[in-house]
Amino acid sequence: MNHSVEILSVGTELLLGDIVNTDAAYLARRLSEMGIPVYRQSVVGDNADRLLTAIDEAFSRSDTVILTGGLGPTCDDITKEITARYFGVDLMEDAESLTRMQAYFAAAGRTMTENNYKQCLTFEGGTVFQNDRGTAPGVAIRRDGKTAILLPGPPSELIPMFENSVVPYLSPDGVMYSLNLHLTEIGESAAEQILRPLMEQSENPTVAPYAGEDEVRIRITARAESRAEAERMCREMKETVLSYGMRDYLYAETDTPEAASDAAAHALIGALQKKGWRMAAAESCTGGMIGNRITAVSGASEVFSGSMVTYTNETKMRALGVREETLSTYDAVSEETAREMAKGALRMTDADIAVSVTGIAGPGGGTEDRPVGTVCFGLCIRDEEPTSVTVHFNPRASREKIRRQAASHAMRMVLGKVRGGEKEGKNYRK
Ligand code: ATP
Ligand code: MG
Repeated sequence: MNHSVEILSVGTELLLGDIVNTDAAYLARRLSEMGIPVYRQSVVGDNADRLLTAIDEAFSRSDTVILTGGLGPTCDDITKEITARYFGVDLMEDAESLTRMQAYFAAAGRTMTENNYKQCLTFEGGTVFQNDRGTAPGVAIRRDGKTAILLPGPPSELIPMFENSVVPYLSPDGVMYSLNLHLTEIGESAAEQILRPLMEQSENPTVAPYAGEDEVRIRITARAESRAEAERMCREMKETVLSYGMRDYLYAETDTPEAASDAAAHALIGALQKKGWRMAAAESCTGGMIGNRITAVSGASEVFSGSMVTYTNETKMRALGVREETLSTYDAVSEETAREMAKGALRMTDADIAVSVTGIAGPGGGTEDRPVGTVCFGLCIRDEEPTSVTVHFNPRASREKIRRQAASHAMRMVLGKVRGGEKEGKNYRK
């Protein structure tokens, strides 16, 4: 089947710029990976007349329209009602959605209010996509060569629903599988330049690079009759991609959207589990970001002892045992301090390996010796002497970005060490 798809995002918040339309970006990217062209994206507010007009216009151009948002219980959630009006069909209660919603409320210890029932309504003759992360199911209807697919607005619900239900709905004759290769220390334009011939000649699997904040992700997507076959095709393509000079940059592989969203944390947890090690962190300029990102991954408790946020000199001394002399002689942002911080984190925990971060995230505080973006990292394995490295991140980057890049760098250092790789400690300039 050859689709042409439009994305119609519904929500006054989007129209006013209060939220960013990441749903449309996600869908557009995934659809193009699936070889389904997206011809137009539009946004309409929560207004019945304008929504009806927008649906009508979209179907005058495209045979499939994906609508996002407005499936919730409140009176401004009107996407289903208006789509039903456009198709001239009734809405009816879906028994499974009702059972699931009752169970959802019971488990949350909340009572289901009257307006929640409207979330269990589906199109007569339609398809229901169950929502594993929230209450509102997605729904779809196919009539007279037109398909409308309605998905909930929150990305945490939309993404898994798209992956689990909409992908098979749109490609009934095949299974799609995607493998992400996460690269560091190479820019997107360089990766794209090198891989361009490969990207142009490959249709199945497709190969596409995406720039992350501190990584480049190469996404390989295959369509096949079985998942095993699609996986095999992706792995074969992975070897080809790596043979284009990418092998040295690869630090992680993921095949789920959750893991792909923080490959450093997921890969690190996987590597620690494999090795049977625990890690700890001592954080200054990252203010707990390492701890936050690691604990966001399920399974962290097995391998993560904790992270200490030691911001002032006083706290570095009291919580980690950093010596006053070290701080006054070498400064808080120094490799000497970083090493003592890492050592201290090991002493204070039951971890096997500890990493530390101390740096200048800016915009103020830079000096000639230590410009903004200077970050010192310490790394220590139990019963060994700590090592350290200084990295200079782009001084013009925002404070947030420098902090996030520093957290990622620290996690990748631990990852390299746990895997026994040679990458750790490499003193490179961004
Ligand atoms: P809910 O049941 O949560 O009300 P819904 O399907 O009715 O879900 P909306 O009410 O339109 O969806 O939006 C709910 C929230 O989802 C928004 O406040 C916003 O945080 C997020 N959201 C909605 N649409 C988008 C979008 N296009 N991109 C990113 N986030 C979105
Ligand atoms: Mg809503």
